[in-house]
Amino acid sequence: MRTRVHLLKSEEVDQSAYHEILQQLQSFSGPLEFVSTIDEPVFEDDESTSFETHLKDIRDTSLPLPEEMIQEHALYSMKKQILSKSAEYIETPQKLTRLKWEDIFNSCEKFRAKNDISDLEFVVLLTDKGNELNWFAAPDPKGKRNGFVQTSGLGFYLPGSSRASIVYLITTHIMRHLMFSNIKEMTDGVHYRSVGCMNDFCGNKTDLILKLRTADLCSDCVKRLEEKQVDPLLATQAFEIMEAMRGEILFRDRYSLLKKPSRMTITGPNFTIRFPDLANVELKLDKIEKTIYLFFLGQPEGVRLNSLDEHREELIELYLKVSPTSDRETATRRINERTDNSKTQKISENISKVRKKINDLLGTEMAEHYIIAGANGELKKIGVERNLISFVK
Ligand SMILES: [Zn+2]
Repeated sequence: MRTRVHLLKSEEVDQSAYHEILQQLQSFSGPLEFVSTIDEPVFEDDESTSFETHLKDIRDTSLPLPEEMIQEHALYSMKKQILSKSAEYIETPQKLTRLKWEDIFNSCEKFRAKNDISDLEFVVLLTDKGNELNWFAAPDPKGKRNGFVQTSGLGFYLPGSSRASIVYLITTHIMRHLMFSNIKEMTDGVHYRSVGCMNDFCGNKTDLILKLRTADLCSDCVKRLEEKQVDPLLATQAFEIMEAMRGEILFRDRYSLLKKPSRMTITGPNFTIRFPDLANVELKLDKIEKTIYLFFLGQPEGVRLNSLDEHREELIELYLKVSPTSDRETATRRINERTDNSKTQKISENISKVRKKINDLLGTEMAEHYIIAGANGELKKIGVERNLISFVK
């Protein structure tokens, strides 16, 4: 059975970051179907509270779970003290607007009502804003399949790994819902002392980082997964996602030491460009950008922009390969516009757009290996070692 997960984002969440998260989730096949939404709940300032964070290193731990949120029918016996006391994270930025949990889950409910979404489907809100209890991710205490993941702040703990961490948290969130029938079970079932399991509560930041790097499923949780008869296909999909995110986080960790960038694959008739060591994330380029990029990949020694006219034929052929539905006339025109020595503006624009996309995808440090670089008037080239690149038909 397919299970839909509606990913809601609040308005301040960056569009392209949202789409990257979504695409990453969608790139794994299985019963979980991740759906984008156009609804964007707006949280006005009067709906939220703003806190100054006085302690630089510790999240405010004095916040009790609001009594009125805990409904009897949800069988709630949250260990309030334990939960809030353990919730220590380094706060950034120092002043963060914190939403009320009630407002967050109300917006999920509004979305459900408006779009007629069944109780079996998930609604997960991504928000850059903090929340009153300082959790990075939490389920609806009323027992519905609602939840939120805070999309800001994670990158601060795990440089460059924000997207992977968020995707990981969304996935574990869904798994927890399926493994525990209600919040009581969940609060009893999560591990307050880290055991290297997906269900470690992770009260402090070291635990969270440890979990993202190492977490598997402990034997208790494997048993529970069996008892709850979670669809094995769904569990497989979820673990594939988590495993890939973990792989990416570890790879990035090692990168800071080894400076070894990811491999790159270029596959299929569309010349899809992916980075297998970074959860196989795709670099999306339009036709002309891809043509230019593949051209420079094939020129490890580099080419000056004002000698591109010598490569016109090659570029036109490449364009027609990248875009087989285009006619030769269009290809010739588009390439000529970019290989005119008297004005290099268009080609420069394309190159800087590609650079931005690579920076956004990989983070500026690792991106350096893959961008088309070179000073004005000098040779332009992509520096990456070509043995890291493979073409697959
Ligand atoms: Zn466990």
